[in-house]
Amino acid sequence: MNTFAVLQLSGCAGCEVSLLNAEEWVGEHRLVYMPLVLSAANVPQVDILLVSGGVRTDEDLYNLRRAASRAECVVAVGTCAISGGVPSLGDRDEVRELFIAEEGRRHVPRLLPRCSPIDTAVDVALYLPGCPPTPELFMAALTWPAEFEASTIVCRECGRKKLKDMRPTHLLGFQKGEILPDVCLINQGFLCIGSSTRGGCRAPCPRAGHPCVGCRGPSDVLIEKESSAWFSSIQRVFKALTDIPPEEIEAALRSPQYALFLFQFSDYAAPERPPRPKEKVL
Ligand code: SF4
Ligand code: SF4
Ligand code: SF4
Repeated sequence: MNTFAVLQLSGCAGCEVSLLNAEEWVGEHRLVYMPLVLSAANVPQVDILLVSGGVRTDEDLYNLRRAASRAECVVAVGTCAISGGVPSLGDRDEVRELFIAEEGRRHVPRLLPRCSPIDTAVDVALYLPGCPPTPELFMAALTWPAEFEASTIVCRECGRKKLKDMRPTHLLGFQKGEILPDVCLINQGFLCIGSSTRGGCRAPCPRAGHPCVGCRGPSDVLIEKESSAWFSSIQRVFKALTDIPPEEIEAALRSPQYALFLFQFSDYAAPERPPRPKEKVL
């Protein structure tokens, strides 16, 4: 029976909640450290260390290095651990100034100059993207190499049909209008980027009528490419299915709603990162 630990750095605990929603690991894997649900002072020697959250503070860095030295392999879990994610918002000047001004009084950990993915500090054996990864994906990571068949892109798991003769001329905002069942959300004027996003999540968002915002990151064909490649790929899909001006799509892709997830598309190919071969990405 494998032992595993869950180390939470700067993040939101959504990844941990998703892991707890996967029951199948109980009985097959022994959880020995997870401060959210288990009392344990330190990470013991483990087979697998799941790490969620980004390296935002000096405490994150210390805890990560110490825990990784006791693990046979490290799995980077979720957007924050893989690309910085939500805690990257702390890189903004106004947030840093506020934090630094209050730091002495609150005795909180020191902010590092910028939020970093965990593979800038420790070796990572497997990347598990998603915000959060679904319970099924957690199970696949714990049993890796697993007999887990992820589709190449979210569209293949979505089930909605792309139509050639239903061409919107402008984007609709989030959650606006009535959603037709079975019809691709792009045909209905929504900015869904499931065609560029790696599958494996089973498309819960578009199935429920909410556009995919790309939390699983780039599909294998885009994973080692610059951001211009996935911008072009999304534009091609919209050109085939809509008459929406490309500038409108580009502006929406750069909006805060999408940027939090979409920056990770170019992050995989960033030259300052250690290589992330797609074989290591679940
Ligand atoms: S990846 Fe998403 S769910 Fe996981 S810690 Fe970050 S923000 Fe939370
Ligand atoms: S673009 Fe979105 S709604 Fe359309 S098929 Fe792909 S995932 Fe489904
Ligand atoms: S459908 Fe898109 S946004 Fe939703 S979980 Fe899957 S990858 Fe993430």
